[in-house]
Amino acid sequence: MTMTQTTAATTAPRRQPETLWSADVLIIGGGLVGGTLAAALAHFGVSSVVVEASRPAALLEARFDGRASAISLTSRRLLEAVGLWQWVEDEAAPMLDIRVSDGRSPLFLHFAHDEVGDAPFGHMLENRYLRRAIFHRLGQLPEVTLLAPARVARLERSDTAVDASLAGGGRVRAQLAIACDGRASPTREEAGIRVTGWRYGQTAIVCTVEHERPHHSVAHEHFLPSGPFAILPLKGNRSSIVWTEREALVPGIMALDDAGFTEELGRRFGTFLGAIALIGPRWAYPLSLQYADRVVDRRLALAGDSAHGMHPIAGQGLNMGLRDVAALADVFADAKAAGRDFGERRVLARYERWRRFDNAMMLAATDGLNRLFSNDIAPVRLARDLGLAAVNRIPALKRLFMRHAMGLLGDLPSLMRG
Ligand SMILES: Cc1cc2nc3c(=O)[nH]c(=O)nc-3n(C[C@H](O)[C@H](O)[C@H](O)COP(=O)(O)OP(=O)(O)OC[C@H]3O[C@@H](n4cnc5c(N)ncnc54)[C@H](O)[C@@H]3O)c2cc1C
Repeated sequence: MTMTQTTAATTAPRRQPETLWSADVLIIGGGLVGGTLAAALAHFGVSSVVVEASRPAALLEARFDGRASAISLTSRRLLEAVGLWQWVEDEAAPMLDIRVSDGRSPLFLHFAHDEVGDAPFGHMLENRYLRRAIFHRLGQLPEVTLLAPARVARLERSDTAVDASLAGGGRVRAQLAIACDGRASPTREEAGIRVTGWRYGQTAIVCTVEHERPHHSVAHEHFLPSGPFAILPLKGNRSSIVWTEREALVPGIMALDDAGFTEELGRRFGTFLGAIALIGPRWAYPLSLQYADRVVDRRLALAGDSAHGMHPIAGQGLNMGLRDVAALADVFADAKAAGRDFGERRVLARYERWRRFDNAMMLAATDGLNRLFSNDIAPVRLARDLGLAAVNRIPALKRLFMRHAMGLLGDLPSLMRG
């Protein structure tokens, strides 16, 4: 039996132990990646049950997640194709130019979107709006059943199917499970898939500010010895701040009152947008790199942060997760057309081959950038300043960087080709 629903945001699992939901795919974790995956699979007629641990209303609360994400051009195409973009486009702020500067050096890189075409580099979108869109959209799709709040208590993976027992009673049967349950991924742990990685000793302080003057859709990334300080344009005279700081200093900064915090922030922000005022709460995200040793197992695949967690220096973590989503959707669409079981080893192996290299490259790139820029060692500073100047003067190299930021490089899944 496949259950459908009308209002995803208010649906809770039935408590009768005998309740059985069945679908093609079980998605564990209904966050930005899991929720988009359910919509993308539905686009190809593949049904899913999404099990999300948190209450949807809690996920939408202003205090839940202060982050805004840089959504690349190709991620936007995916969101458009699966019916999510229409719910967020009024809230999404285009990023037309990106300016990169290095500490005390006057050298900076300037990327202008019109050097590579008409489209913006991407859009800044507050995560809460994308979450809200996901709940709206999933509620419209007969192929999707959202169970929230709910947790998988036991996942049995046999040669022919997966069978999940939910903590509050009820079961879900599907051809395979996809773990989209974030960095700590209990599903990945339970499957015994190890992760390789390290902590950066840095924490990202995230907040939103209002400023006197307009940002003109320009994003700024200022490299300071403690890590990158990013000013990212939101709708109106507002910007999202990602302030990377040495871990040890963060408790003291977070404990400051609003006036003290704004003063510290202002010292890094500068005065180019006039006076700034903090709006809303602040958050602290400890930073680490992690990479799962493998992203498929018997009737199991990992997607998004459960498979790879990276430094936010290039704003690519979610974009990479959305690439996983679009690749999975293609792989399953082809399997469906060929009459194959979605959990077959060769179907999953195609997903692994497709995404493994791309994700590894992005992890290495973000890690390298952070190591190169988050220090104040004189020769390294000189080398990177020369590098910035060189990129600025070599148009072909500059265009390559810009196409990369837009997500245009690599083997693009169909939903990202536009
Ligand atoms: C400071 C900062 C800034 C960032 N900026 C950008 C950016 O500009 N652009 C970009 O592309 N990326 C950015 N990222 C990365 C991005 O936020 C993540 O890659 C993205 O949120 C990952 O989404 P996800 O759905 O895989 O995981 P999560 O967002 O962690 O979602 C996991 C979901 O699974 C649920 N869950 C967990 N356990 C269970 C369970 N046992 N059962 C059921 N459900 C469960 C959780 O409730 C949650 O809803 C940034 C990250 C940080 C820290």
